[in-house]
Amino acid sequence: MKNNKFKITKYLRYDIMSLEEKHNLIGKEIKCLDHGFVRLVDFMGDDSSIVQSARVSYGKGTKSVREDTTLIRYLMRHQHTSPFEMVELKFHIRLPIFVARQWVRHRTANINEYSGRYSEMTDDFYVPEQSQIRTQDEVNKQGRSDKQIDDSIAKDILDSMEQHQKQSYNEYLGYLDKGLAREIARINLPLSSYTEWYWKIDLHNLFRFLKLRMDWHAQYEIRVYAEAIAGIVRELYPISYQAFSDYILNSVTFSYAELSKLKELFKNVKIEDLEDTDPNFSKFEKIELQKKIEFINKID
Ligand SMILES: Cc1cc2nc3c(=O)[nH]c(=O)nc-3n(C[C@H](O)[C@H](O)[C@H](O)COP(=O)(O)OP(=O)(O)OC[C@H]3O[C@@H](n4cnc5c(N)ncnc54)[C@H](O)[C@@H]3O)c2cc1C
Repeated sequence: MKNNKFKITKYLRYDIMSLEEKHNLIGKEIKCLDHGFVRLVDFMGDDSSIVQSARVSYGKGTKSVREDTTLIRYLMRHQHTSPFEMVELKFHIRLPIFVARQWVRHRTANINEYSGRYSEMTDDFYVPEQSQIRTQDEVNKQGRSDKQIDDSIAKDILDSMEQHQKQSYNEYLGYLDKGLAREIARINLPLSSYTEWYWKIDLHNLFRFLKLRMDWHAQYEIRVYAEAIAGIVRELYPISYQAFSDYILNSVTFSYAELSKLKELFKNVKIEDLEDTDPNFSKFEKIELQKKIEFINKID
């Protein structure tokens, strides 16, 4: 239940949770894949913390919600990123090791991981759903296509994966029985083994992570986690998340060559004719669009 709804305009409407409601999100597991989860452990600040730090340069505190929203949207649009670093989130995440390998490439976070040297590895392994047993994509060289492998072959593949995981795990237990150290006994376990970690990151770098890992180019398995995290961020920082969604997540950039090809389309755009009652398209954004179109029209 949201207890503090407010409307900036008829288009931009935010359901702001109370601090208590936000705290209730802590500890709730969001299931991801077959044995994984995302769980919020802690968070710092809210949308107003971002505004507060952005305004320190003027020596002014928080203003009206409307002005704060405009400022957050301006900061996001112009990549004034440091105010978004003023809030942090900490998660407990359970994920297959092959997903963790992609995840750790995001260096601007703090991690503390489960240790297979101190503790025994569990017998949880990721087995994809049959709908994910697909052919190699011809265009996206890193990914799978939309085409599912025939039922009987897909079942064979899944059976073989599970069999291999069980066998590996039994061998692992066998090594431990023989007195082998955990740190060496684990080395033959597959990348589908689950690991766990605490992951702490600031909102700016989290948005960067979400932009990259919610994208269709990202592997489906990490996308599942990114979407779970995005759901939490949307609740905790609704104004910032909306700005991220409008200006980063759902926006595209064009290369010089692409703009040259599109130039003709922009020739006759009359900015003054564009409707400006949509608050997602403020008078400042109208001016900014004008400047973008002037830029495109100057391209050779
Ligand atoms: C779809 C996809 C496919 C990928 N494929 C591959 C692949 O095939 N092989 C591969 O190796 N990786 C791959 N990656 C990983 C990718 O190259 C990046 O390492 C990863 O996305 C992390 O991005 P980042 O460096 O921006 O993030 P972070 O490490 O979180 O960094 C955020 C930003 O902080 C700054 N920063 C961080 N560390 C430094 C530093 N040491 N010096 C200067 N600035 C720094 C940079 O501005 C950086 O953009 C892939 C990623 C995606 C999303």
